[in-house]
Amino acid sequence: MTFELIEKHGGHEEVVYCHDPSVGLKAIIAIHNTSLGPALGGTRMWNYANENDALVDVLRLSKGMTYKAAAAGLNLGGGKAVIIGDSKTQKTEGLFRAFGQFVNSLNGKYITAEDVGTSVQDMEYIFMETPFVTGIPKDFGGSGDPSPYTAHGVLCGIKASAKWQLGTDNLKGMRVAVQGLGNVGSNLVKYLTQEGAQVFVSDIDPEKVKKMAQEYRAEGVAPDKILFQDCDILAPCAMGAIVNDESLGKIKAKVIAGGANNQLAEARHGQSLKELGILYAPDYVINAGGLMNVFVELEGYSHERAFDKTRKVYDNCMKVFEIAKRDNVGTHIAADRMAEERIGTIGKLRQRHQGKSSRNFSTLKEVTNR
Ligand code: NAD
Repeated sequence: MTFELIEKHGGHEEVVYCHDPSVGLKAIIAIHNTSLGPALGGTRMWNYANENDALVDVLRLSKGMTYKAAAAGLNLGGGKAVIIGDSKTQKTEGLFRAFGQFVNSLNGKYITAEDVGTSVQDMEYIFMETPFVTGIPKDFGGSGDPSPYTAHGVLCGIKASAKWQLGTDNLKGMRVAVQGLGNVGSNLVKYLTQEGAQVFVSDIDPEKVKKMAQEYRAEGVAPDKILFQDCDILAPCAMGAIVNDESLGKIKAKVIAGGANNQLAEARHGQSLKELGILYAPDYVINAGGLMNVFVELEGYSHERAFDKTRKVYDNCMKVFEIAKRDNVGTHIAADRMAEERIGTIGKLRQRHQGKSSRNFSTLKEVTNR
C-alpha cells in the first residue's frame, strides 16, 4: 500500500519515515525533487486519521513545493514534512529535537520551515539539532513573519495582472476586492491603499473589517458578497476553492489575483476562467513572496534583499501569461509548464556540472557577512 501510494503521487526522490517512541515522534519527510537545489518546505503537525492520510498529504504538498520554488525562480527543490499528532496537546521540546535530528541526517537535502500546526518556537528546537531549518526567530538570524513579503509579492502580481488584462499597472483608482483580512490580506490592503486603489474588504470577523475600514478608508462588504463585488480585481486572501461551479458565473472582476492557496476548486475551473475572459494569476506563482523571504534566510538574511526579491513576482506572472497565450491554455496550466521548463533546462545544466554550477548558500553568506 505504501509503495503504491508513493508511486501514484508521482516521481518522489525519497520518502523518510521518522520514528522515535521515546518522545512519541511519528513523522514523514517527502523529498519530491532536488534538480534545482535542496528541497525546502514546511513541517505540518496534524492529527491525521491514519498514516496513509499523512503520507498522501506529504506527497501532495512536497510536489507542490517543487513547482512553487521552480516558478519563483529560486534554486530550491520541493519537499515537505508531516508530524502526526495534535499540535495543541502533543508538542514537546523532545519531539521537535528528535525530528530535528532526522532532518539533520539528510545532510541538507531537505530544509524545513514552519507550516500549519508548527511555530517559530518549534523551529527553534529543531535549530538546536540542525542548521537545515528556516523560519527561526529574528535574533537567531531568521526572517520572522513571512506575511508582509507574501503580501508584497501579491501586490506585484496584481500589478502584472492589471497590466496584462487592463492595460496599466498603475493601481490608482483601480477597484480591488480583498477577501480575508488576516496576515496576508491586512498587509495587502495597506499596500493597495498606498498605491491609491479603491479597496473593498471582507472577513468573517467583523472586528477586522472595522479596523481596516477605519485605518485605510476601505469599504466593508459582507462575506457572502465579496466574491461577487463589482470591481476590477478580486484578491482572495482567505481560504481555498473559491473558484467553483457555484461562484464562477457570478464573479464580476476581470482579474483574480490574491494570496490564498488552492484557489481553483478543480483544475477544470481554470479552463472555465479562461473561457469567461477572466485572467487568473496562479496562486502558487503570486503567493511565492514568503518562500522568497525564507530563501534569503539561507543566504544570510536581509530585510531589504528579501523585500526586493518579492518584486520578481511581477515578471513571473508576466511569463505565465505569455506562456498561456503562446500555448493557448489556462494560466494554471501555463504556470506548471513554466516550472517544468525551468526544472528541465536548469536541472539538466546542474546535472552536467554535478550540481556545482549554482552558487552555494554558505559562500553567499560569507560574502554578505563581510
Ligand atoms: P490568516 O489565518 O491570518 O487569515 C485568513 C483570514 O481569512 C482570517 O482573518 C479569517 O477570518 C478570514 N476568512 C476565513 N474565511 C473567510 C471568508 N469566508 N470570508 C472572508 N474572510 C474569511 O491566514 P494568512 O496567513 O493571511 O493566509 C491567507 C491565505 O494565504 C491562506 O490561504 C494561506 O494558505 C495563503 N498563504 C499565506 C502565506 C503567508 O505568508 N502567510 C503564504 C502563502 C500563502
